[in-house]
Amino acid sequence: MNCWKCDRPAHGICCFCGRAVCKEHAQTLVRIAHIYHTRDGKHMALVVPDALYCGECQPRQDPIELESLE
Ligand SMILES: [Zn+2]
Ligand SMILES: [Zn+2]
Repeated sequence: MNCWKCDRPAHGICCFCGRAVCKEHAQTLVRIAHIYHTRDGKHMALVVPDALYCGECQPRQDPIELESLE
C-alpha cells in the first residue's frame, strides 16, 4: 500500500480512518482507546498519546449520538 499523500510506500496506517501514510507524512495524535465509568460515577479514558494519524481525517473528540433507527 502506498502513502495517501505522496504515493510512495507507506510505513503505517492511520488508526482513525485507515489511510496509509509514509514516515514523512505520518503524524501522531492522542487517541482515546477506551472510555469507562468508575463505580463512583467518574468518566475515565484510556488514551494512546502518540497514535498514528494521517493528518487528513478529522477524528472527533466526542462520540456522536446516533438518531434512533426506527
Ligand atoms: Zn507520504
Ligand atoms: Zn486518518
